[in-house]
Amino acid sequence: MSAPGTPVRRVTVLSGGMGGARFLQGLRHGLANGLVPGASADTEVTVVANTADDIWVHGLKVCPDLDTVMYTLGDGIDLERGWGRRDETWSVKEELAAYGVEPTWFGLGDRDVATHLVRTQLIEAGYPLSDITAALCRRWQPGVRLLPMTDDRVETHVAIADPEAPSGRRVVHFQEYWVRLRAEVPAEALVFVGLDEAEPAPGVVEALTETDVVLLPPSNPVVSVGTILGVPGVRAALAASDAPVVGLSPIVGGAPVRGMARQVLEAVGVEVTAGAVGAHYGARSAGGVLDGWLVDERDADQVAVAEAAGVPTRAVPLMMSDHDATAAMAAAAVEMALELRTGRADRTDREA
Ligand code: GDP
Ligand code: CA
Repeated sequence: MSAPGTPVRRVTVLSGGMGGARFLQGLRHGLANGLVPGASADTEVTVVANTADDIWVHGLKVCPDLDTVMYTLGDGIDLERGWGRRDETWSVKEELAAYGVEPTWFGLGDRDVATHLVRTQLIEAGYPLSDITAALCRRWQPGVRLLPMTDDRVETHVAIADPEAPSGRRVVHFQEYWVRLRAEVPAEALVFVGLDEAEPAPGVVEALTETDVVLLPPSNPVVSVGTILGVPGVRAALAASDAPVVGLSPIVGGAPVRGMARQVLEAVGVEVTAGAVGAHYGARSAGGVLDGWLVDERDADQVAVAEAAGVPTRAVPLMMSDHDATAAMAAAAVEMALELRTGRADRTDREA
């Protein structure tokens, strides 16, 4: 274990798509410019990305969160949309629609299709997703080590009300819920198909145990970070890790900044507040995953809520409005991690 005061050489981040990718951009900006305490431009960042959003569509394997992180950090993202390639065209999608082939609602850009073709070809040749991701990253050079949470197939499905179905319910893929239905109907339940049988991808357990700091960025706590934590072995690795674990709230001012966090939190019975999400992750000292939690300044009243659940909590600005603001968030998270590490070392010294 690293002694207090030793530099932060390795940081591991558990990421979803857009929220995670923007946070990682800010973290990298902070590291490159010496804005993160204890860390430097040489600090290695490992990203464990959610793959439960993955979908097979038109015979192609699409990994939205891996691609959003890879394109964002590799400077290929469409900044306006926040997903997919910049300067995109849509001929393939239009031609498929002209054939009347479903689904027509999934955003499949021409440039993006090349990524999915390469990935699918390699899957069919028998390569694991982790190797394929590394191969794709050789082109994009994201400046982080990008690992899928698992090489196994895991898919989040959403149960919605359907009066015409005999059970009164219908189950759709997460992408259909989000993209076609725009999360406008309540999510009655979530099913993480394959999650219980999945294994962490090579390198994931080591990324959690052999690191100096673990960060949970402001990603979706249920369908992004929640699924990563649901891979058997991941929670145990975090529990066993000497590295402090600090999370940042995706809920600001009592609402998600964007996306469908409200719908999926309601589906799992968690209140849509920064304090409740911190309590949902739980204190590592009490079987949860967090040593520290950051909420936005305007949620200062939520500090007591998360602390009542045993999670040390601070209120700092949490809006990723530009790279500097996001770097400051990453710096606050690392700073809190270092202080927690020192506090723990002090206690260990006293106990010894
Ligand atoms: P997705 O896979 O594209 O849904 O992305 P993630 O799961 O990584 O992140 C989505 C979460 O990021 C949502 O719950 C948003 O509330 C949160 N988010 C987006 N922008 C911000 C921001 O500027 N600040 C904070 N604190 N959270 C944000
Ligand atoms: Ca996602």
